[in-house]
Amino acid sequence: MAGRLVSETLTKLSQMGDVTLHEPAGDSPQTERKRRSRKQEFNLNDCISHLSTPRGPKAVMKSMMTTACERNCHYCVFRAGRAKTKRVTFAPDEMAGAFNTLEQAGKVDGLFLSSGIIKGSVTTQDKIIDTADIIRNRQGYRGYIHLKIMPGIEYDQLYRSMQLADRISVNLEAPTTARLAALAPKKIFIEELLRMLQWAEQIRRDHRNEKLASSVTQFVVGAVGDTDLELLSMSDKLYSLAKLARVYYSAFGPVPGTPFENLPATEAIREFRLYQSSFLLRDYKWDVEELPFLRDGNLRTDVDPKQAWADVHLIHQPVELMRAEREQLLRVPGIGPLGANAIISARCRGSLSELVHLKQIGIRSPHKLAKYVLLNGRQPARQLSLF
Ligand code: SF4
Repeated sequence: MAGRLVSETLTKLSQMGDVTLHEPAGDSPQTERKRRSRKQEFNLNDCISHLSTPRGPKAVMKSMMTTACERNCHYCVFRAGRAKTKRVTFAPDEMAGAFNTLEQAGKVDGLFLSSGIIKGSVTTQDKIIDTADIIRNRQGYRGYIHLKIMPGIEYDQLYRSMQLADRISVNLEAPTTARLAALAPKKIFIEELLRMLQWAEQIRRDHRNEKLASSVTQFVVGAVGDTDLELLSMSDKLYSLAKLARVYYSAFGPVPGTPFENLPATEAIREFRLYQSSFLLRDYKWDVEELPFLRDGNLRTDVDPKQAWADVHLIHQPVELMRAEREQLLRVPGIGPLGANAIISARCRGSLSELVHLKQIGIRSPHKLAKYVLLNGRQPARQLSLF
């Protein structure tokens, strides 16, 4: 039990609590946020998150080199001058030692390391790199490491971080220069953030034979009037030009003691619809223009974007499942990549003429897609009794 192995560093770590609550790192970001009652004391488990990582499901230690920061992002719990934030700082040796202790005790198998900025981004990134270097090269750890990239670091620091990590985060926070200025006045959109993502892709291209980290980013959603169209247009560019592995969307929540403390929280459903749309761009290769935006540039929150599109485009032109190309099959709500593959191989073996045949090949809710498809030239009857 790691609690018994508590050293001064582990105590410090546990006193920090879940400092990376607002920084998703795995493939199920909406389940990553832990709920903790106000009365409950912090403990070491607060800095351990169970994530789905590119190396599979893992218990990951999520922490920060320091919770002090000289910048003043308006939404952030760690912003300079916020009196309520407890400031805790680790030296690289300390942080690496804490990780080693937990890893050796079998409590974690993975590290997500972020930081506030003190003495500039370059100095801060050096501390992150030093920590990862100790873990990789002195402690010999070969497992999962995800490192945060500070805004505006040097090219060589980015390259070194990518050699040490499996994944790096460069959080854009906002989709445009103007939105970022309203959110985080001391961050510079193009030179400090976008350039990091462009460099990362350049580094991967220039060093094809090396194992280098993939890149992700995060947006804070809904604090400064950003629209879904802005967020998804930038996401689309990042997927195609910077080859991002994924984009995180974090619904804004007001933090007491910050300039945004009185702004309303963004609804969780908006964040969910952004994720659904983002996957349509990344995995289904939709164009941004095909997403069903309303006039104000936002998506409807009451309906899945794929269904909203199908209600306009497929109701009068249903997709014939026996003949459709894979791309057309993927347009049907309820048919994902696995479902499309299953339909293509099933129709080589024989006819799909009833909804029950779709159920048999693994389509989970065939009755929901009945109005968008034809089976052998006929609109299928919605035979709910079969299920
Ligand atoms: S730089 Fe990072 S830690 Fe510092 S205030 Fe901004 S978001 Fe918070």
